[in-house]
Amino acid sequence: MNKYKGKGVYGAVAIGKISVYKRQELSVKRTRIEDVEAEKKRVERAKEISNQELSDIYEKALREVGETNAQIFEIHMMMLEDEDYNESISSIIETQLVNAEYAVALTSDNFAQMFAAMDDAYMQARSADVKDISNRIIKNLSSDSTNMNGVTGKMIVCADDLAPSETVALDKDNVLAFVTAYGSSNSHTAILARNMNIPAIIGVGEDFLNDIKDGELAIVDGFTGEIYVNPDDETLDAMERKQAEDNEKKKLLLELKGKENVTIDGTKIKIFANIGGVDNIGAVLLNDAGGIGLFRSEFLYLENSDYPTEEQQLIAYRKVLESMAGKKVIIRTLDIGADKQVDYFNLDKEENPALGYRAIRICLTRPDIFKTQLRALYRASVYGNLGIMFPMITSVSEVEKIKAVCDEVKMELKEEGLEYSENVELGIMIETPAAAVISDLLAPMVDFFSVGTNDLTQYTLACDRQNPNIESFCDTHHEAILRLIQMAADNAHKNGAWIGICGELAADTSLTERFLRMGIDELSVSPGFVLKVRNQVRNTDLAK
Ligand code: PEP
Ligand code: MG
Repeated sequence: MNKYKGKGVYGAVAIGKISVYKRQELSVKRTRIEDVEAEKKRVERAKEISNQELSDIYEKALREVGETNAQIFEIHMMMLEDEDYNESISSIIETQLVNAEYAVALTSDNFAQMFAAMDDAYMQARSADVKDISNRIIKNLSSDSTNMNGVTGKMIVCADDLAPSETVALDKDNVLAFVTAYGSSNSHTAILARNMNIPAIIGVGEDFLNDIKDGELAIVDGFTGEIYVNPDDETLDAMERKQAEDNEKKKLLLELKGKENVTIDGTKIKIFANIGGVDNIGAVLLNDAGGIGLFRSEFLYLENSDYPTEEQQLIAYRKVLESMAGKKVIIRTLDIGADKQVDYFNLDKEENPALGYRAIRICLTRPDIFKTQLRALYRASVYGNLGIMFPMITSVSEVEKIKAVCDEVKMELKEEGLEYSENVELGIMIETPAAAVISDLLAPMVDFFSVGTNDLTQYTLACDRQNPNIESFCDTHHEAILRLIQMAADNAHKNGAWIGICGELAADTSLTERFLRMGIDELSVSPGFVLKVRNQVRNTDLAK
């Protein structure tokens, strides 16, 4: 038995087989070839396989997510047959006498750059499509092609690190747990694990990855951050007992379903849930959340290979609103950038991405993207009780601009005869120190604040949330953060706005009493923490 230790980011025990996550790295070597015709035949064969794969994916997408969403695979099939693209591959093989993989990779780079340089956002997005189809052909050219996710059956997925885009691409039904060699507890991958109620351990170290093999039995203890590989019988027995006890405790918490979030002295608070997509709704309902306090809408963009259309977004937002049957649903507009990168946005590489072009900064400079999302949100608003929230706010002028775009969108919908609700609440995230400090100026402009403690901590303490080496300096209970939250709460209430907390700190039950004393109106946590926080609230007495 080997034992390793990292940091647990979701408390639960998983027992199962290891699957080492294989990232599809297509390193293409240039080799000289003699037989040009044979090389061209290889390309034809790889294209045939790619075409069949795309047609299968298209059929599956058509059945599962409808025609609009499936269309992208049809476009990929058309691109496979594009004359210019194919001529370029053939001519590189003929003139440079190089292998097919190299010719496809070079063509891909040339075409991708050409698309990326175009003015039109739609054409720019084709750059990612060319790379996508070219990678598929290259994968099918090589006999040792790797599985994108490397996961089959129910597995403990072990990786060096997982980007949010990789995490969302995993088949969640088959993931028992995540273990990563690197990573930090406030990274979006850790947050995703919590949202999915999946035991997860991060920062186990590199040795772990070198030691483990696919198919080995392992135990993940998300409470202690320990992972046992090839456990002995004694450990297996003990951990099976721990797993059963945990399940029992979680069952007991289920008895709190339907009960109020009220302290012993009668103070009430709302407990909502955070979600990353429509898939999480089941967990929200199961755990009896009073609403959705944060729908991270960017995951819709991360899951897609192109900008989600207004109709696609409308379907997703409508589904969430209808499922919540009149309970509040707060959807945050796109928060792309920093660690959440999407190929088709073609964002430049930045020295300091967390301080860079992200979230509202993208939306305010790319009105096409912003307006599409707002149109979908307002159109969905007739199906439930919607709040729209804007991330990464630092100034009054940003909120003024946002409100002007919202008014423009509503006006356009009215002119087009499309329905929307007039009762949509507008709120902003308080996740920069600037927003907290000027919360007296911002509060009169909005209906609510929601404190994003993950970013607020990062920016207040100058601690990169992605960097595991400085986690010990990243004191989320730091008085500076708690004072900023208190300041925002006071300013919200003085101006008739309400205030919630939707960062990970909202689920920290050692702070529940402090948040209640601050007058926080709502705590929004991963679905699996709703009942735990309810339990804490019901055992708190503010009169003491
Ligand atoms: C936060 O920053 O606390 C937050 C809720 O947003 P995200 O974690 O998605 O950046
Ligand atoms: Mg944030």
